[in-house]
Amino acid sequence: MNSLDCEKIGYLLPLYIDGKINDSTAFAIEQHLSNCSDCFEKYISLKNISQKIKASFDNSLDYSPYNKNLKFFEDNISSYIDNELAKEDYYNFNKFISLNPDAKKELDKMLFFEEKLQESIKKNKQILNKDLSKSIVNEIKKENPNYVYNIYLKAAILTVLFVILTILVGYFAIPEHWQSFAIKTHFIH
Ligand SMILES: [Zn+2]
Repeated sequence: MNSLDCEKIGYLLPLYIDGKINDSTAFAIEQHLSNCSDCFEKYISLKNISQKIKASFDNSLDYSPYNKNLKFFEDNISSYIDNELAKEDYYNFNKFISLNPDAKKELDKMLFFEEKLQESIKKNKQILNKDLSKSIVNEIKKENPNYVYNIYLKAAILTVLFVILTILVGYFAIPEHWQSFAIKTHFIH
């Protein structure tokens, strides 16, 4: 691209300043600028304007009250949901929401997801608790598979002991003729 005249340079300068031109064309523009004072002046003034626009745009992003508040909103939304905001921040947050319907929508969306999340955590906890008590019982059974059998064995031993005791007490406590009757009928044949 060696045949760049002043008119073509005029069209290309904004793109060149924004860095949106390929290297070979940029080189050709630089060649022209170094040889043409008119285009060079145009380039300088365009560059100044471009820098001013950029600076004012950056300022509007960083320092406009809305964007400052938007940043505050985005930085604090999760703290707000978790009730962790200081009193003053809480007040500012609510104020921002009341003035910005989009922010309110965003908050409602977050609250909805938070609620769903909490529900699912609660559900999983319940399942976990249920499984936990079940698994504890199962562990006990595994470790001591005869524990049910042992209870019946103990009960049986106690019953036998009780019967023996009853017979013994009966034998010594019941009057003599009953004793002899019992002995005659049951033990002496
Ligand atoms: Zn020129």
